[in-house]
Amino acid sequence: MAFPQPLVLPPGIEASRFEAYLKAVTEVVGAENVTVIHSEDVLTKESYLDPSKAHDMFHVFDKDYFIASAVVAPRKVTEVQAVMRLCNEFKVPVWPFSIGRNVGYGGAAPRVPGSIGLDMGRNMNKVLEVSEQNAYCLLEPGVSYTDLYNYLVEKKLNDKLWVDVPDLGGGSVLGNCMERGVGYTPYGDHFMMHCGMEIVLPNGELVRTGMGAMPNPSASSSDGTIDEQPGNRCWQLFNYGFGPYHDGIFTQSNYGVVVKMGMWLMPNPGGYQPYLITFEKDSDLPQIVEIIRQLRLAMVLMNVPSIRHILLDAAVLGDKKSYKNVDRPLTEEELVEIQNQLGLGRWNFYGALYGPEIMRNAQWEVIKGAFGQIPGSKFFWPEEGKQSPGVLDIRAKTLAGIPTTDELKWVDWLPNGSHLFFSPISEITGDAANLQYSITKKRVLDAGFDFIGTFTIGMREMHHIVCLVFDRKSPEQREKMHKLIRTLIDDCAAHGWGEYRTHLALMDQIADTYSWNDHALLKFSEKLKDAIDPNGILAPGKNGVWPASYNKEQWRL
Ligand code: ADP
Repeated sequence: MAFPQPLVLPPGIEASRFEAYLKAVTEVVGAENVTVIHSEDVLTKESYLDPSKAHDMFHVFDKDYFIASAVVAPRKVTEVQAVMRLCNEFKVPVWPFSIGRNVGYGGAAPRVPGSIGLDMGRNMNKVLEVSEQNAYCLLEPGVSYTDLYNYLVEKKLNDKLWVDVPDLGGGSVLGNCMERGVGYTPYGDHFMMHCGMEIVLPNGELVRTGMGAMPNPSASSSDGTIDEQPGNRCWQLFNYGFGPYHDGIFTQSNYGVVVKMGMWLMPNPGGYQPYLITFEKDSDLPQIVEIIRQLRLAMVLMNVPSIRHILLDAAVLGDKKSYKNVDRPLTEEELVEIQNQLGLGRWNFYGALYGPEIMRNAQWEVIKGAFGQIPGSKFFWPEEGKQSPGVLDIRAKTLAGIPTTDELKWVDWLPNGSHLFFSPISEITGDAANLQYSITKKRVLDAGFDFIGTFTIGMREMHHIVCLVFDRKSPEQREKMHKLIRTLIDDCAAHGWGEYRTHLALMDQIADTYSWNDHALLKFSEKLKDAIDPNGILAPGKNGVWPASYNKEQWRL
């Protein structure tokens, strides 16, 4: 079988050698599961709803920089193992992804151009188990939030078990957890709520973590291959098992390909009330954050609430030109006009109450009493048959774990809308929020863009998510945006704020900011990398961790 020449070969691999690799990998997964990325015509996808598996659709560099040489989609665990062994034999780098949406962070694209894209979701997309009694599920990589939700609806379990979804429902449940993504119900910290993994190591070996390392006594050789054996009864019930706890090192890393993951589901809390509180003034932010910290730590706020800047909501409801036909950042007065037009505040706080009515009423009294101290604050609940202000109707679904893709719209704020996420972590204090907001806002406005962002509040910290929207077809805007985000990383690092996750182009810079004691942690990560992946084939450069076989200075962007 003849294969077309890819646009980009893996580094150091000649065309004939690559062809031999393709031949071998085709024998493993079948011809229909190998796609060579041989022409720009394969790189035409631009929509979240039909994502590219080969390049970053929201590219900040040229479209054909971060691209795969070929995309390979294994059908089962034994094939993943075989592909890893072949990658070692041919020294071909391989970049796993589950669905490959990962918007704002690089999509399905690999860090090293010409890597094989390992499409874990195309064929391996089953809900393997749902336990109603113990409220968990066991999933393959290709199960999206929407798939899981639909599965529960189909099995008439959605009234009993809730999913926790991020803003967009099209991503993989497993993939999002791998990146330590967040959602908005009380189960919003996805890594905290996962339980048990099955992982193919870079050399093709298979491990189960936590209680999964203990065999299930009822498993037998007639179960099929080892990955098909039923797991230990407590695999999805207790995360830590015995001995060193490893799950964390497989997230945001390049130490393994995760092929199964357990996830806890939230039992229906017995009642639910989403709400919106609007705050008029830009300067209300510190007081809002101070109140949130107290209520969140005391668990009066049970879920992951978010404080959204007016333009994030405005962008979901219309593009920039629909408000003001200008090519400069909107002014303070124009923001006030938009607030008035939409009946929103400068800051809009979306939350929800969970539990029986008596509990919700008590919480609501406390919440109203606390936020009511801020002059101009207004309180809203969705009303039957009426359109709610802002994005409350959308958030009402998200906060109840019903996946949507409605929030996709903010990316169309500008024509050919594309975005990068800048996501520093900070303490939950008014001062920190204020300082972060003023630093980022000034830089964003100086670069000629609008500030669009949200603060998402975890157990003890805030993820400040700045949505850097640009026109991907404008080389000038791409360059400006790239420069802007690099500056923001340095600005925040100077204050001791680091990012929780990032785009491919920025992984090295951010890894460098985590530099305590002469980069001791990064050195440890590299040591681990070389020990378990001596050929450096699995996702080299992921989150700044390079194997010894790469000269990382040469690969720095
Ligand atoms: P999304 O859920 O948004 O579609 P992806 O599937 O693109 O996200 O996954 C995001 C990132 O998480 C990938 O680029 C990869 O680094 C990591 N990842 C996802 N799935 C796996 C997996 N099965 N094994 C190892 N890493 C994974």
